[in-house]
This record gives sequence, C-alpha cells and structure tokens, in this order.
Amino acid sequence: MSGFTVAIDGPAAAGKGTIAREVAAHFGFAHLDTGLLYRATGRRVLAGEDPIAAAQALAPQDLQGEGLRSGEVAQAASKVAAIPEVRAALLEFQRRFARLPGGAVLDGRDIGTVICPDAEVKLFVTASDDVRAARRFLELSPKNPDLTLEQVQADLAARDARDAARDTAPLKPAEDAVMLDTTELGIDEAVAAAVAEISARRAG
Ligand code: C5P
Repeated sequence: MSGFTVAIDGPAAAGKGTIAREVAAHFGFAHLDTGLLYRATGRRVLAGEDPIAAAQALAPQDLQGEGLRSGEVAQAASKVAAIPEVRAALLEFQRRFARLPGGAVLDGRDIGTVICPDAEVKLFVTASDDVRAARRFLELSPKNPDLTLEQVQADLAARDARDAARDTAPLKPAEDAVMLDTTELGIDEAVAAAVAEISARRAG
C-alpha cells in the first residue's frame, strides 16, 4: 500500500494542530506536527547552538520537554525556519513520515507546497487575526499569568509576516488546496469539515 497523505497548512493558531490531531485519530493515520521540528531547532539555538548544526542533529527526544510551546521558542523557530539549510535538513524525515504505509497527516506551513506536493488531500486552514490571537491566548495564559493578549497578537503578526515573506518555502496555499476558514467554526465543526473532505477524496 502506498499510503495516503493529508497536508494541512496555514498561519499560526488557525486550528491546524487540533484538526490534524483529530483527523489522524479519526482515520487511524500517523500525525506529525512539523512545527515541532522548527521549535526544537529554535530551542537548541536559544541554548547557543548553530542553527544548521542543530537541525542536522535533531533527535526524537528534542520533540518533547519543557518550553517548546513558549512564545520565545516560537519566534526562534520562525527565524531558523527562514534558513534554507535548516529546511533541507528536516525535509527527508518529513517525506518519509508522509509515506508511512498506514496513512499520515502532517501540519505546517509548506506541506502541500514543498514537502508533499503529491499529497492526496491538501487543506489550508485560516481564521481571522483576532480569533487566532484569542485562541492562542487562551491556550498559553494558564501557564503564563503575565502574558497579555497584545503580546500574543504581536507574536502571531511577527511570525506570520516572517513566514510569508521568506524566500524558501513561504507560507502560502498550494494551488490545489481546499481552504478551510475556522473563524466562525467550533472545533467539532472544523474537524467535521476536514473529515468530510478527506472522506470524499478517499472514496474516489
Ligand atoms: O506551527 P508552529 O507555530 O508550531 O510553527 C512554529 C514555526 O515553525 C512557524 O512560525 C514557522 O516559522 C515554522 N514552520 C515552518 N514550516 C513548517 C512548520 C513550521 O516554517 N512546516
């Protein structure tokens, strides 16, 4: 069996991660949050490593542990993600994952455009800036009592701008991506829309 790849891209905090996780559980596919690869590289760089060497040295245990979700690591991730050699070091692992025989869901920024241009399904998940900031704030604030909504808005705006403007694998929908705007959708509705799209493609 040649596998079945679902590529889910979009800007920060649009709901990609939740949709990818739920869709993978629904179909029994493996799931890779590719942002973790860049976050783990960024965390190593904050600890003093060279970005390219850090990406080349990534190991499974790098994808766990404290701090990967922090705003500081997110900013470091989007800076290292603009370096072509960093992206090249992470490419093969993602492509192998995408072709796991039981099916795979990958979420990120360039899955449908660069990593898996032949993915069976491509979704580009968006939401309004205000809704994305509010969602990320709700997610991060329990562990960061000093965090403000304004800081989250600034973080997302800076990352989106950097991710969309870079020369290598910029954030943009693949030409054949299906757009999914989650601004007015709850989690269940967004997941149901994604599941319906994938089911239709699987059926033929
Ligand atoms: O998705 P997440 O917010 O965890 O991603 C962190 C950063 O990693 C993004 O802002 C982006 O710069 C980078 N990234 C990327 N390509 C991917 C996934 C993430 O450039 N496929």
